[in-house]
Amino acid sequence: MNVIIFGPPGSGKGTQSCMLSKKYGLSIIAAGNLLRAAVTADNIDIKVKNAIESGTLVEDKFICDIIYKQLKLSVSNFILDGFPRNLNQAKFLNKALKEMNQVINFIIELQISDNVVIERIANRFMCLNCENIYNFMYINEVNECKKCGSKEIKQRYDDKNLNVIKKRIQEYKIQREDLRKYYRGKILEVNAEMSVAQVNEAMCVFFS
Ligand SMILES: [Zn+2]
Repeated sequence: MNVIIFGPPGSGKGTQSCMLSKKYGLSIIAAGNLLRAAVTADNIDIKVKNAIESGTLVEDKFICDIIYKQLKLSVSNFILDGFPRNLNQAKFLNKALKEMNQVINFIIELQISDNVVIERIANRFMCLNCENIYNFMYINEVNECKKCGSKEIKQRYDDKNLNVIKKRIQEYKIQREDLRKYYRGKILEVNAEMSVAQVNEAMCVFFS
């Protein structure tokens, strides 16, 4: 089973991918995490680093190369989280999957209003060690990561600035229209303003 999950930043793609991955044994290919990992690498291109930190789209070639390598490792049974983000990337993915004799079984779009997204992101913190997400809208305080025990729970650098968040939402909306056209008839919509458990339940229906 190969699945794409897309939705604006803060719509819960990461959390939901993680739950689906555990339940159905799928590997997660998360574009955002892969990009953040690339940013901390020593040989990162300064243009790419600036683009990620300022919220502008990262060059397609850079992210496509990263995804291609991951697809080759995962082969099948994967969830793509945050990729493709635009038409160019969708076409690239189509070509890559053909080459690997793979298909996408379905595409889930998480739908959520701007206000809810902004509030969620402002409260979103991440374990710097294992990237587990904590949202202080729903929980109180976390002194150490429940998953790995690290005490380094901080805001993601790309979540700190409201203008950057708004820019990411705007860019997402523009690109979303192209994706909706490209994948017309294959997209399953889920209301992402429900609780984590409810969203998950709604998604699991597609898998059964
Ligand atoms: Zn952790």
